[in-house]
Amino acid sequence: MAGLYLHIPFCRRACHYCSFHFSTVLRLKPALLQAVLSELEMQRDYLNGAPLCSIYLGGGTPSLLEVAELVALFERIAALFEITPEAEITLEANPDDLTAEWLSDLRQYTPVNRLSIGIQSFFEEDLRWMNRAHDADQALRCIPEAQAIGFNNLTIDLIYGLPESSDDRWAENVRMALSFGVPHMSCYSLTVEEGTALAHFIRKGKSRPVNEEAAARQFEHLMDAAEQYGYEHYEISNFALPNRYAQHNSAYWFGQPYLGIGPSAHSFNGISRQWNIANNALYIKAIREGFVPAEREFLTLAQRYNEYVMTRLRTMWGCDLADVADKFGAPFTEHFERQVQRFVAADQVSVFDGNYRLTRAGKLLADYIAAELFWVE
Ligand code: SF4
Repeated sequence: MAGLYLHIPFCRRACHYCSFHFSTVLRLKPALLQAVLSELEMQRDYLNGAPLCSIYLGGGTPSLLEVAELVALFERIAALFEITPEAEITLEANPDDLTAEWLSDLRQYTPVNRLSIGIQSFFEEDLRWMNRAHDADQALRCIPEAQAIGFNNLTIDLIYGLPESSDDRWAENVRMALSFGVPHMSCYSLTVEEGTALAHFIRKGKSRPVNEEAAARQFEHLMDAAEQYGYEHYEISNFALPNRYAQHNSAYWFGQPYLGIGPSAHSFNGISRQWNIANNALYIKAIREGFVPAEREFLTLAQRYNEYVMTRLRTMWGCDLADVADKFGAPFTEHFERQVQRFVAADQVSVFDGNYRLTRAGKLLADYIAAELFWVE
């Protein structure tokens, strides 16, 4: 069981908050896609023949590609890897790309069976502030349009905690998102990453900083509303109708191996992690010269334990003491039990039969609690 991730590093516009690897210079797109096709060949043995249960095209903006370009990618993948019949095949898309013609060709000519749409907000003011390429009208229209063409397996992204927005506007965003009946939503708290335009604006006083209290209030509202509509809060940023969890992301959280192709893509095979260079021109050059421009690190037991704690604690499946003992041994188990006690006492972590999960109060402090459970070498 394994996953495949393809990074498509192009966007129409640079969103002010974004720290992913992407370029708005589309001139290199044909050469980059050729390089991605070559890298798929070069890395075909990375997963040791494990069948693919999920394929995820992320970015950047994969919906910038022509359907014919996507067909070529999927043909190459199918020729090199075994794909399970029920594999989840997701493509990230932005509302401004989702024309009826493109969606219908995508449905007809590719195996994509799930769309992840970057809505972020249904309000024009928020979208302008974020410098998104789409407008509110496109955000509202693209979901029913995709559903009408047969893409019922949809997930949408939203962002809360915008300093220039409000609790009321966020509540309306959540209400609208839930009214579409999509089976999955990913909702992220705005973070200010170094090197982004947003960080620069805040430093220069052109934008207000994030108000953590407002972000926490909006997160709480989201949890209440999603629960009322029958969604499970199965990971800190992810909500799904029963059994509609994202298979690709869930596999990450359960430590399954995955191969990442394209500039900046990460791969993990259970022992080591590697990441490709985050530069389109250098990536293309290296692949043409016959090597994958990646750095690799072998994870220590402590790093793997920290990763387990960080990812699993954020999920509704929680951290299992038997699992910790089995994977990492007695010193880590004792450390975990010792460290977690004060969060159990504070009702931020619940425990049942050796399984530790964040309570509602704990979800507001997820990163802090995970960091306190880490093993520091
Ligand atoms: S579209 Fe996505 S990847 Fe591209 S700049 Fe915006 S947030 Fe970043």
